[in-house]
Amino acid sequence: MDVLPNTIVRLVQYGDVRQAASAQSVWQCVSCLTCSARCPKSVNIAGIMDALKEIAVKERCVHPKQKRIAVFQRAFLNTVKRNGRTNEIEMVAEYKIRGFFGDGSVTAALKDADLGLPMFLRGKLHIKIGSPVKDKAIVRRIFAKCGDS
Ligand code: SF4
Repeated sequence: MDVLPNTIVRLVQYGDVRQAASAQSVWQCVSCLTCSARCPKSVNIAGIMDALKEIAVKERCVHPKQKRIAVFQRAFLNTVKRNGRTNEIEMVAEYKIRGFFGDGSVTAALKDADLGLPMFLRGKLHIKIGSPVKDKAIVRRIFAKCGDS
């Protein structure tokens, strides 16, 4: 991590939210909640990291080296929003296309392409179109309540 979580919290406390949101660490945080659970002052650091992710996207200050993670997260959320659950093929397609138009990297676009067939043959990649979620309106309402409509 380029900026440690305690420094991120300090930056936020000092009002330097943009600098905190621009850190790579914000996107390297996997929301494991270890820091939040162990913080002697009960600071919800993982929650702060999540909020900073949203701010970084809104303020267009995602660290250049972490843009693909932001793209992946968007592709994941979009597929949940559309289907009520993840759809791996749809998610990967959106991630690869958005990622390519974001940085123009053919290498990144083709990375892992050789894994598709072996994964499919082992039943790890589901190509089922459609969704078992009957009431997608509930999912849409959840997204709308989170300000993501
Ligand atoms: S939630 Fe986990 S990954 Fe994120 S900053 Fe805390 S300890 Fe690190």
